[in-house]
Amino acid sequence: MAKKFEGRSVGIDLGTTYSCVAVWLEEKNRVEIIHNDQGNKTTPSVVAFTHDQRFIGDAAKNQAAANPENTVFDAKRLIGRKYSDSIVQDDIKLWPFKVVAGADGRPIINVKYKGEEKKYCAEEISSMILTKMREVAETYLMSPVKNVVVTVPAHFNDSQRNATIDAGAIAGLNVIKIINEPTAAAIAYGFDKRIDCDDKQNIFVFDLGGGTFDVSILTINGGVFEVKATAGNTHLGGEDFDNRMVNYFVDEFKKKNKVDISGNSKSLRRLRTACERAKRTLSFAFVTSVEVDSLYQGIDFSSSITRAKFEEINIDLFNECMKIVESCLSDSKIDKNDIDDVVLVGGSSRIPKVQDLMRDFFKGKDLCKSINPDEAVAYGAAVQAAILSEGFKTVPNLVLRDVTPLSLGISADFGAVMSVVIPRNTSVPVKKTQRYITAYDNQRTATFKVYEGERARAADNNLLGLFSLSCLPGAPRGQPLEVCFAIDENGLLTVSATEKSTGDKKEITICNKKGRFSSFETNRMIKEAETYKVEDENFLRKAKVMNDLDYCVYNMKNALKKEVNLKVTPQESQKFNNAIIVAMNLLDKNSQQKETAFLEDHLKKLQNMLKKLKVKEIKVKEIKVKELKTKSGEHEAKSHKFSLSRFLFK
Ligand code: ADP
Ligand code: MG
Repeated sequence: MAKKFEGRSVGIDLGTTYSCVAVWLEEKNRVEIIHNDQGNKTTPSVVAFTHDQRFIGDAAKNQAAANPENTVFDAKRLIGRKYSDSIVQDDIKLWPFKVVAGADGRPIINVKYKGEEKKYCAEEISSMILTKMREVAETYLMSPVKNVVVTVPAHFNDSQRNATIDAGAIAGLNVIKIINEPTAAAIAYGFDKRIDCDDKQNIFVFDLGGGTFDVSILTINGGVFEVKATAGNTHLGGEDFDNRMVNYFVDEFKKKNKVDISGNSKSLRRLRTACERAKRTLSFAFVTSVEVDSLYQGIDFSSSITRAKFEEINIDLFNECMKIVESCLSDSKIDKNDIDDVVLVGGSSRIPKVQDLMRDFFKGKDLCKSINPDEAVAYGAAVQAAILSEGFKTVPNLVLRDVTPLSLGISADFGAVMSVVIPRNTSVPVKKTQRYITAYDNQRTATFKVYEGERARAADNNLLGLFSLSCLPGAPRGQPLEVCFAIDENGLLTVSATEKSTGDKKEITICNKKGRFSSFETNRMIKEAETYKVEDENFLRKAKVMNDLDYCVYNMKNALKKEVNLKVTPQESQKFNNAIIVAMNLLDKNSQQKETAFLEDHLKKLQNMLKKLKVKEIKVKEIKVKELKTKSGEHEAKSHKFSLSRFLFK
């Protein structure tokens, strides 16, 4: 037996609240979800330290109420993040264990272990959970395990992914691949349904876990799993539903006993455990009791809650989930009628109300229930681990494709608008080229600032890097410049710009290790962009009018140079020049305070003047054509008509 399973690679779902390990069993042609020493197929992602030992998993969770300061959970929320990250700051307020700033601004967890102060980084705590999962697998396989595939949320950035690999290394594991949780769930689904290589299916993965909510839309086609769009909220999940119930009972306790337990962490912890249990029960029962002996100052607590009440106190959170579902669908540009299946993942997706809302949203569609929501992610990771190991004949070959979480572009135009080259949720690898033109006559240099984000004003986004072309030919404005964005399989972004006539080309490569946003920041930026929509629209309106004004001034000046031909009277000339001076003042960086409506008014005036000038210009041309006609006959006039129409077309 020991020999039979030697060298097996396993798949680990390293969850925020629960972890799960699975292995591909070639002999049985299926994936086995491995149960732990307590007989559970999921293990709490909790590590506890006491005066004489360390606990991981169920044992750690079970003693949490008695030892809250030294019981560490939610390490996944810290991994790959800085202490100053606002999500870290918000979480610290809620955790009973201590987190301080360490070297390089890393968050460090302080606990007391064997009577001594100990400091751990998130990678170390995660490595302890990985060690536990490895032991679970080794006990089952009766053989050492070295190679693992670990899953991470789709929105994890490079730093969080690397920190997860580091956690594996600290646990003495070789992380052969990191894959996205929804992709892993989709693999499990594809496997379960035995989707044929020729089938094309759009599937919606809905993952509502303990602390996070993630949705993804994937297309499975010929063994290729392609993520079309992802969305989520890094702070929405089962723990929030527990908190709502805790608050509800804290109020009830206050009313009944005239004491407030909200400041007592031990009482709250015990009440929270009872609430989580009640919540699970309400997924199959309509009413349940909640009882905690000697909850506070010797007072026993005994109450009950109905499913309807539970739904009522959480409905805004459930509706928030549905908003995210909707936005992901609209990002993917796939119609909801074209979604072939909805796959539920994560323990909280078992909540009946959540399922009802999803069913209603997808017009009564049956939700896929054939795969276990707690196990799907580890299942997919195990299949991926088997694909990457040699010697298995029965596992199909799959290709995984991902998307960019944020839009990428450069700053362009008057007012530095974010000009998006690669919109968010574009599949990678990808290469896109966009044309820009020079803004000034005799422009010699062009600077390209590369940004990541969803705001309309480039400066409101994250600057990834900048570079310049410095050998432009001194030509009139409007010279074409080509900008190319390319992202390879490893997420490396290369931006290049070329000036065609001289062949001048410059490029920069932006590795997403540096300067890219964390998942929290990614979500914050998307949310912020929604909040600032009106502000952004105003900004764009102003940027457009500034651009048009600049363009109009340029054309007016050029047209006036031909003043003699155009028969412009001195009074008209004076009027036009005054209007140009006003416009130039309005365009001046130091006096750009004017209201957009004011700018638009002036632009209209200027455009009318330009029209008049053009009419005059056309008249002059027509007179010339007539003269030519009489002078040189039909043939010559025809060729002039051609040049006249080209001019008009312009
Ligand atoms: P994560 O991946 O974030 O670690 P999981 O997918 O393991 O989380 O889900 C854990 C969450 O699911 C917990 O908040 C747990 O209370 C909740 N949960 C588990 N089973 C049920 C159930 N039957 N009904 C409601 N919630 C459940
Ligand atoms: Mg999960």
